[in-house]
Amino acid sequence: MLSYWEKSYFITYDHIIVGAGLVGLSVAIELADRYPSHRVLLLERGWIPSGASTRNAGFACMGSASELLDDLQHMSEEEVVQLFEQRKNGLALLRQRMGDNAIGYQQNGSYELLRPHELGVLDHLEYLNTLLLPIIGEKAFSICNEKIQPFGFSPRLSTAMVANHCEGELNTGKMMQSLLRLALDKKIEIKTGIAVERFEEEQSSVTVIINDEIRKEPIELRAKTLCICTNAFTKHLLPQEFVTPGRGQVLITQPIPHLPFKGIFHFDKGYYYFREIDGRILLGGGRNRDFDTETTTEMTFNDNIQQHLETLLNEMIAPNIPIEIAQRWSGIMAFGNSKQPLVKQFSQSVFGAFRMGGMGVALGSLSAQQIATLMQQEIESRL
Ligand SMILES: Cc1cc2nc3c(=O)[nH]c(=O)nc-3n(C[C@H](O)[C@H](O)[C@H](O)COP(=O)(O)OP(=O)(O)OC[C@H]3O[C@@H](n4cnc5c(N)ncnc54)[C@H](O)[C@@H]3O)c2cc1C
Repeated sequence: MLSYWEKSYFITYDHIIVGAGLVGLSVAIELADRYPSHRVLLLERGWIPSGASTRNAGFACMGSASELLDDLQHMSEEEVVQLFEQRKNGLALLRQRMGDNAIGYQQNGSYELLRPHELGVLDHLEYLNTLLLPIIGEKAFSICNEKIQPFGFSPRLSTAMVANHCEGELNTGKMMQSLLRLALDKKIEIKTGIAVERFEEEQSSVTVIINDEIRKEPIELRAKTLCICTNAFTKHLLPQEFVTPGRGQVLITQPIPHLPFKGIFHFDKGYYYFREIDGRILLGGGRNRDFDTETTTEMTFNDNIQQHLETLLNEMIAPNIPIEIAQRWSGIMAFGNSKQPLVKQFSQSVFGAFRMGGMGVALGSLSAQQIATLMQQEIESRL
């Protein structure tokens, strides 16, 4: 049972957001900026954000040449360009909101490595450059084979290398810590360790039900609007939505003296990625080796993929360098029947922004801005 004080001060809010990843935090910040007097509550099931946003690789990426060419097999030119522009605008918004220092943003170069059977990609670079020119105003891609040898990669991995001039990198931990601090500065109430069980809608309000282990009863929180930002875990709250989880495996090495490269690197249509961070190599990917097992929300390891990552590291990325693995982890992404994130008003009071795929770092802030605008329109229509 609740006390009089608890019921008076901790139950009713203007907006409740579920999920404190990059998207949920950004929605909360957008709402706090638009409505400084409103009470915004952000609920997170983990002790810290516990999905993809604190567990990714920190690529501020918009798509490698082979990935964009692959997308063009399933999507129209217009859709591919539109998604690219959304990533560009999302990243610009994140950088503008936070400042580069707060998110550790740097441009140390972004490259795609092409193996012998992928050299056909080079024939399409000019086409991609022309397609993307209106969005970025300069050449997106150029060949930079002269860097392969100084970077020390095995020719089995890198017969050719393409520089991407639109991408950068950031420090994921710093970004998420800064977003949490900004949210607290804006008086957003953040409660962690709370998994939302379900919600019930009324005319123009919503009841959000959470379990309270201490009071031994479900607690009903109330708000004018609810925004669901639970990405790969969305089916629990919105079972009818098409959201498929995709686990990502990652490892990081101990610091390597005189590591010969900096920047971010992709290969195999973006299924593999590695970068330099703090003098170490962070390497991830390989979901395409075992899609069935990796379609899960379990944050555990896939030994087969972890072993493969290690082989790639030793034989292709840093051959001849003694390497020690420092840490391994996995995180969960969300995919759907299209690469577009789902940003939607479900009813008068319920909204959602999820399904960020493998590029939520770039897309997330824009999706948050878009859903906050839909919420604002709804709120203003009620006045
Ligand atoms: C290994 C890996 C590498 C990646 N690398 C990159 C990269 O380099 N560049 C890039 O752009 N993107 C990358 N991504 C993708 C990117 O991290 C995601 O697209 C982005 O973080 C999604 O943000 P989000 O806020 O939508 O989701 P999340 O960060 O997953 O946030 C959802 C939150 O909701 C919480 N939650 C779920 N259910 C409930 C509930 N019922 N009640 C309360 N809370 C709940 C979860 O705990 C979680 O914190 C990577 C992802 C992974 C896993």
